[in-house]
Amino acid sequence: MNLANLLVRAGRSFGDRPALLRGEAVLADYAGLAGRVARLAGGLLGHGLARGDRIALIMKNRADYVELLFACWQAGLVAVPVNAKLHPREFAHILADSGARAAFVSPDLETAVTEAAALAPELAWIETAGGHGHDRMAHADPIAPAAVAADDIAWLFYTSGTTGRPKGAMLSHRNLMAMSLSYFADVDTIGPGDCIIHAAPMSHGSGLYILPHVAAAASQVVPESGGFDPAELLRLFGRLRGATLFAAPTMVTRLLAHPGLGYADPAGLKTIVYGGGPMYLEDCRRAIDAFGPHRLVQIYGQGESPMTITVAGKPVFADAGHPRRDARLASVGIAFAGLDVMVADGVDRPLPAGETGEILVRGDTVMRGYWNNPAATADALRDGWLHTGDLGAFDEDGFLTLKDRSKDMIISGGTNIYPREVEEALLHDPRLAEVAVVGRPHADWGEEVVAFVVAREGEAVTAAELDTLCQARIARFKRPKDYRFVDALPKNNYGKVLKTELRAVLAD
Ligand code: ATP
Repeated sequence: MNLANLLVRAGRSFGDRPALLRGEAVLADYAGLAGRVARLAGGLLGHGLARGDRIALIMKNRADYVELLFACWQAGLVAVPVNAKLHPREFAHILADSGARAAFVSPDLETAVTEAAALAPELAWIETAGGHGHDRMAHADPIAPAAVAADDIAWLFYTSGTTGRPKGAMLSHRNLMAMSLSYFADVDTIGPGDCIIHAAPMSHGSGLYILPHVAAAASQVVPESGGFDPAELLRLFGRLRGATLFAAPTMVTRLLAHPGLGYADPAGLKTIVYGGGPMYLEDCRRAIDAFGPHRLVQIYGQGESPMTITVAGKPVFADAGHPRRDARLASVGIAFAGLDVMVADGVDRPLPAGETGEILVRGDTVMRGYWNNPAATADALRDGWLHTGDLGAFDEDGFLTLKDRSKDMIISGGTNIYPREVEEALLHDPRLAEVAVVGRPHADWGEEVVAFVVAREGEAVTAAELDTLCQARIARFKRPKDYRFVDALPKNNYGKVLKTELRAVLAD
C-alpha cells in the first residue's frame, strides 16, 4: 500500500494531465512528474538513505514539494513535513526528535536550518530544494515504489503545539490512504480538470489534500505568492477551473474582508474546505452569502487523525430550509464514513445525545502513536480510541458540536464554562474583530472568566457595553469578570490563538 503508487497510476493512465502549476502556468504533467519522482527516489537511496529513514522537508509552499514528498514514499522513506515559518529552535526540536538523516530546505532557510542542525546529531546532510544537488539526484536511475507495509510510517507530523511542545504523530501509508478515500466519500468528488490551490502551508494537514488530488489526476496549484494572498486567490477563482481551496477559518474571514471580494468572479471555484479551528456562525453565514452554499465544506480533525474526524458536507450548507440548519452550521457535522466517533464520559463510556464529554475516535485514519513518546501515546490511544482532548456533544441526528478543548475549559465555582460559547456571544458585536476567552485562577471560585478583545480598526468598545451584550445572551456565571482590550491575539504559525500565552499574561 505504498502511497507512491497513486502517482505511478496517475502517470501511467493520465500522463498528459497537468500535474503541477505555479499560478496559472503548467510546470509538469503527470507523466513528467511520475518519471522525475522515480529518478529522484533512486537518487535518494543512492545517497545512503535506507527504508524507514526520516527526511525533513522544511519548505515554503513550492511545486517541487510534491515531487519530494512522493520521492520519499517511492524510496520507502518517512517524510517529516516542517512548517517553514517555525523558529530555528523549533526546527531543531523537530530535527532532533525525529532523528532526521537528511533535510530538504527552501533556499532562504539554509542558514536557519544549518544553525538548527547543530542540535540534531543524526542529520547527515542538508539539500537546497530546487538546487543543483536536488536536480542531480533527479537524474539517477529510476526505481519502482518500495515494498512498504501498510502500517509503515509515511508522514511524521508534528502537531502545531498550541497546548505544549510539538509531538510527532506517526501516520502510516494506511492512515493516509484512508484519509484520501474519505475525502471522496464525504468532502468532495474530484474530476478531470479539477485542481487544488495550496494557499495554506503544504507542510500542515491541508498539504495532505495533495493525495486525493493526485489519485484523481487533478492539478496541484501553488500560488505565485507561495501562500495566502487574498487578491491573488480571488483572481485565481475566476481563472482556474474546478478549484478547491483549503482554508483555515482566519483565511476565510480575510477573504471575506478583502475589498476585491465584491468584484471577484467565483466561477472557477468549486469548493472551499475550511476547518482546523472554530469558525463562528456569523462568519459562516457571511461565507455562504459570498461564495454560495454549494461551495462550502467544513471539516474537523487533528494531526493525530489528519483532517478527518467529522465533516459538514455540501448538503448541510445547501439545505437552506432545514429546521435545524443553524445548529448544523454551528456544528462540525457528522462522523466521517468509516470512522467511529464517540462522546465519552470520564471512563470512556458513550454519553447520550445532548451530553458533553471528550471526543474519541477510532478507525483507519487514526495515527499509530507519537514518535519516541510511549507515555504520550498511552495517554492518547487507549483501547484503540484516540482521545482528542476536545469536548463536544452529539445531537439526536448525529451532528457533533464542539464545546472546547478540555484544556481550555474553565471551571468556575465547580461549573464548566466553555469559552467558545462566551466568544460566540461577544462576537455578536460587529465592532469586534476577534475575542479569546480564558480562565484566571481565583481564590474562591477556582477560576474566573476573562475576555481578551480585539476591536475592529477605528472602533471603540467598552467593557460595560460588552457586559450588557452578554447579559442578554448567556448566564450570569459565564459573563467575563474582566475585559482586556488588545491590538492582536497571540497566534501560532497556523493562525491558532495561543490561549496558553493569554493565561500566562494573566498569571503575570
Ligand atoms: P497541539 O496538539 O500540539 O496542541 P493542535 O491540536 O493545535 O496542536 P492541530 O492538530 O493542528 O494541532 O489542531 C487540531 C485541533 O484544532 C483540534 O483538536 C480542535 O481542537 C481544533 N479544530 C480542528 N478542526 C476544527 C473545527 N472545524 N472547528 C473547531 N475546532 C477545530
